[in-house]
Amino acid sequence: MTRRAVGSSEPAWPASACTSVLQGMQDSSKRSSATDDSACDAAAAQLQQLCLEAACSKVPRSLQQQQQQPSLLSSCDLAGIAHYIASGRARNIVVMAGAGLSVSAGIPDFRTPGTGLYSQLQRFQLPWPEAVFDIRFFRHNPKPFYLLAKELFPGGYCPTPAHFFLKLLHDKGLLLSAFTQNIDGLEQLAGLPADKVVPAHGSFDGAHCIDCGRACSVYAVQQAVYDDEVATCDSCGGLVKPDIVFFGEPLPARFHRRRLADLAQADLLIVMGTSLVVQPFASMIDAVPADCPRLLINMNKGSEQSTGLSGFVLDVASPADAS
Ligand SMILES: [Zn+2]
Repeated sequence: MTRRAVGSSEPAWPASACTSVLQGMQDSSKRSSATDDSACDAAAAQLQQLCLEAACSKVPRSLQQQQQQPSLLSSCDLAGIAHYIASGRARNIVVMAGAGLSVSAGIPDFRTPGTGLYSQLQRFQLPWPEAVFDIRFFRHNPKPFYLLAKELFPGGYCPTPAHFFLKLLHDKGLLLSAFTQNIDGLEQLAGLPADKVVPAHGSFDGAHCIDCGRACSVYAVQQAVYDDEVATCDSCGGLVKPDIVFFGEPLPARFHRRRLADLAQADLLIVMGTSLVVQPFASMIDAVPADCPRLLINMNKGSEQSTGLSGFVLDVASPADAS
């Protein structure tokens, strides 16, 4: 892992609050020829609204630790995080991204009732919604996944302002890594180099035979998807599956390596667009150093079942408060 220090000739990040960060995201998105300006403006406005409702925290490991350690944040809110970044003390920012990051791109998240991906799978008459991503069911019937893959294969969607925010952090030399639960590839489409992106649930960048393990052409798999066919292995005839992680499969070894290495170095953790329900992703928020500030930006505070939110001091501001 290499880290890039910010050179003295590099302009300092403006010491203003979250509006500057958001403006930078919006400007970055406008420079992308692949992104519709009006869509980006709308998405930026939506994200700004989310940020106004952001929850922010410093990790309160224990009352004793809180008393012993001086606060790194001037205030426990989004402005405090912005000032912390602007002060130059956040040089190893780790981001944890979930499906909410891609909703404004038009990609439905998985669990929102009515509009979530699982809610739209009824047409496949699956025995249970998650079966479409279950390796045992895939062996039995790969067609629902291949039909769904036509919507999921990268290329049909543009990155959102939130993805360009990650690119902005990278351009400033502040991003250590971006862990993502998403399989849409929008982080790299926004310009993040592959070594900065750590997909927790795999990606469409490769494909393998599920029987003999032979690597297969991802382009051939993509062609099969678009032709409404199921790709099979030239060598053994087994089913071929893109390298996204199904239920019943282990998470990528690279994810585990980077999870251990990067979180221990983090000096700021930004959690975006996830309710912190799925493990082991959710528990990663507790693997950062005890004095590492953490910022949660999400549509809601998380479910009652979300154990990952323990320790966050929620600071939900209304738009009126921020004006
Ligand atoms: Zn094979």
